[in-house]
Amino acid sequence: MSKGYLGKILWVNLSDETFKEEKLSEEIYRQYIGGLGLAVKLIYENMPAKTDALSPESIFGFFPGLLTGTVAPLTGRFMVAGKSPLTKTWGDANCGGYFGPEIKKCGYDAILIKGMAGSPKYITILGEEKQILDASDLWGLDVVQTEDKLKEKHGSVQIASIGQAGENISLISGIVNDKARIAARSGFGAVMGSKKLKAIVLKGENKVEISDKDALIHHTKDYNDRINTTTATGIIGYKTFGTTMGNEILFKVGDTPCKNWGGTKEDFPDDRLTKISDHEIDKYKEKPYGCFSCSVRCGAIMKVPELELEETHRPEYETCASFGHLLLNDDLMTIFKANDICNRAGIDTISAGTTIAFAMECYEKNLISKDDTDGLELTWGNSESIIALLNKIINREGIGDLLADGTKIAAEKLGKGSEYAMHSMGQELGMHSPKYYKNMGTTFAFDPTPGKHTTASLDFFIMGPIIKPNGLFEGITLPRKFKRLGEDRSEAEKLFTAIMQFTHSLGLCEFVYVFQKYPLLELVKAVVGWDLDIAEAIKTGQRIQTLRQAFTLREGIEIIKNKIPDRTVTVDYLEDYKGYCENMGWNPETGYPLKEILADLNLDFVIKDLY
Ligand code: SF4
Repeated sequence: MSKGYLGKILWVNLSDETFKEEKLSEEIYRQYIGGLGLAVKLIYENMPAKTDALSPESIFGFFPGLLTGTVAPLTGRFMVAGKSPLTKTWGDANCGGYFGPEIKKCGYDAILIKGMAGSPKYITILGEEKQILDASDLWGLDVVQTEDKLKEKHGSVQIASIGQAGENISLISGIVNDKARIAARSGFGAVMGSKKLKAIVLKGENKVEISDKDALIHHTKDYNDRINTTTATGIIGYKTFGTTMGNEILFKVGDTPCKNWGGTKEDFPDDRLTKISDHEIDKYKEKPYGCFSCSVRCGAIMKVPELELEETHRPEYETCASFGHLLLNDDLMTIFKANDICNRAGIDTISAGTTIAFAMECYEKNLISKDDTDGLELTWGNSESIIALLNKIINREGIGDLLADGTKIAAEKLGKGSEYAMHSMGQELGMHSPKYYKNMGTTFAFDPTPGKHTTASLDFFIMGPIIKPNGLFEGITLPRKFKRLGEDRSEAEKLFTAIMQFTHSLGLCEFVYVFQKYPLLELVKAVVGWDLDIAEAIKTGQRIQTLRQAFTLREGIEIIKNKIPDRTVTVDYLEDYKGYCENMGWNPETGYPLKEILADLNLDFVIKDLY
């Protein structure tokens, strides 16, 4: 067996409280790598089509990448994946911190969960001992309280848990580790809550075996030295301010949406914008925070005396945008407070902020009144109402129950206002405008997990070294005219989508795309021992993306017919997508992968499901 992976996964069945190990062949790893790739392979094969995502038969899991648990830079990430209860499509949510590597330390390449407990439970995997324990005393606690209580009982462990939003089966809830790192998108907090699973507690002693330690150390040191000595302002800014460095500049260039995607720059002028700038936020930083094996450390722990918050995590750009610009809110304290509440309750900040924006626009347009909002005045930028409404959503209280599953369902229940619901198939759009990053419209509308900005949007990443020949990963050069609609662009979209599925499967952080040249295949060889070339990496990524696509199609969803709200987009994203489909070997009129490409990608088992 090659090194780097453990060769086995763990199944947990909450219905009959059993654990079962399954060994996987080397061929599976070579074809699906780990992380996202392993997730889609295992869940596609083990969960029948059209399974209710909130039923006992629904399977979801935690998938560290192939390189996760090693010192390879920026590889500490993992995926939570399964069927999304929010979009009813393939769902995935990426997360960092220290939980992913601990799965490997426990001896597994993935933990998959099925069944449903009769009462609140939590899972412990402590060395060789595995248990399903009573969680009645944890139910109702937020994730910080949950982690503190479990650490009191089990010592130094890694924990992933849900807060009140997941317990209340909010379809916009996520799963949290390290007290504030959240696998936020796709609604997996609700899946975990529906199974009455409060937390997973891990402590392992296993070490990931390395094929060539000297090579691993050499490439890691070289990359880290370059990252840590660079004077490039982008990287220095990133290390200092994290993603908040986008708070001002991205709005100024026209990327950040405001006023529920319907506003203009005049709605949020400079004197208001600067109040929520990276420099203002930085005044509250106590110390930097980073994921396992990352020397960039783009996160931060903050202290906010005004809110009596002794320890809270710095809000990300996405949170600042969804609770700031989108609501025309320039009050930093409201953003800090909303961020802390969302992290503790385990709710997606993008979806929560966008849902509040939806409610505010409905209020402005007189579709709802104070009688409907339990007396809240939902005017733009109203700090008190933002926090009060957020708490109502988390607790499904009053109007919060209407809004707890995001904008699409809220508009349906309301019977009006769908034109103000800024989502794609139910998932609220990431805070990046397709009017600025043209390819974002295609990604939002047609990725097998719609609405996410982090899947594979080409334009979003072209500020990084990938635009230079061999600039990011050796062997990858984008076609010359990729910025314009046409053959070059479609080929570039395919190339980029494929390589991103591959890097997600390694456990590599997406921010690698904006930094410096990265020794991708060199690290795979050093850790695992495989002599992969770039063509195989791309084909592997194409296989993973095609299987994600097949999962969503098998659900009976004609993704190509999906539309995103008119006010978010100017380009013909359907035309863009058709070219991409052709290059992927998919029918450009239906989005269905052609039989020939399925056979070529060793996805023959999909043919009977789609044809
Ligand atoms: S760059 Fe930031 S998000 Fe990515 S691995 Fe490092 S600390 Fe985590």
